[in-house]
Amino acid sequence: LVKGLEALRDLPCETLDGYRVPLWVNTGLMTDVVRSLERGAEGVGLYRTEVPFLLRDRFPGEEEQRQIYREQLEAFSPHPVTMRTLDIGGDKALPYFPIEEDNPFLGWRGIRVTLDHPEIFLTQIRAMMKASEGLDNLRILLPMITSVPELDASLVLIHRVFNELREEGYDIHLPPIGVMIEVPAAVYQVRELSSRVQFLSVGSNDLTQYLLAVDRNNARVADVYQAFHPAVFRALQTIVDEGHKENVSVGICGELAGDPGAAILLMAMGFDVLSMNATNLPKVKSVIRGITLLQSRALLAEVMALSDADQIRERVERALREAG
Ligand code: PEP
Ligand code: MG
Repeated sequence: LVKGLEALRDLPCETLDGYRVPLWVNTGLMTDVVRSLERGAEGVGLYRTEVPFLLRDRFPGEEEQRQIYREQLEAFSPHPVTMRTLDIGGDKALPYFPIEEDNPFLGWRGIRVTLDHPEIFLTQIRAMMKASEGLDNLRILLPMITSVPELDASLVLIHRVFNELREEGYDIHLPPIGVMIEVPAAVYQVRELSSRVQFLSVGSNDLTQYLLAVDRNNARVADVYQAFHPAVFRALQTIVDEGHKENVSVGICGELAGDPGAAILLMAMGFDVLSMNATNLPKVKSVIRGITLLQSRALLAEVMALSDADQIRERVERALREAG
């Protein structure tokens, strides 16, 4: 197995007819980084900054954060590392910053928290930008954006930090900035959001939860949480098409991208980057290497005409079996 993984690591992620799709990884800890590099990841599509915050008993300061981020950026250099600003709230509560609400997933989470507490956001952006000096592989990603004014407010803060650091003498460049598309409202504003940033990344875990009105962690309704729901697929196709009209790169970093059957469909939809858990990367790569882009597009066309998530899944699984 290890030998097989090693051989696969150095092969390109390319279809039989020569179409390339970059496979990136989702990380949070240094151990994820090591595993990702062993599996041949070409970048980090989502570094969840809340992970180091969860492991402490207080907010890490600017210098502490700078060191953590520097380690990540260095480990992956020259590959890009997409750092998401703090996405707490929802199911992720910091013990030293309790949030009590009846509906946490509809409550104070992600960018909502950090725009209400700009000192948290500014410290984090300063630490990220300082950490990127001389490496230039940082990308900044904003979670839970629901409106254009939220994005504009975030961009003002990011530009403020950039200008301050330049004045302080740091030799840095403005990193590409991206928006997570994970709230249904954002799906309908992809053009407006895209015109302000360099990339989009779909958070399919939350997008599925919010489109289907089903808690992503509630076992009682787990059968209603259908990652292959036709409405989810239609939303995904819309996001890619609308984003491409504004010439931004459109990636996806939810669990869906790490499902080999889904990955083929996402490639066919036109996603520019698939970012996943390192564990799933070799399997996704080998499936993509065993199919043509033409076949994957034909499969997508068939699947988009179906109106039942179970049928879609069965159809995709049959295709995977036939491809061996
Ligand atoms: C998502 O929502 O799909 C996502 C990638 O972010 P998280 O799972 O951290 O909410
Ligand atoms: Mg999310």
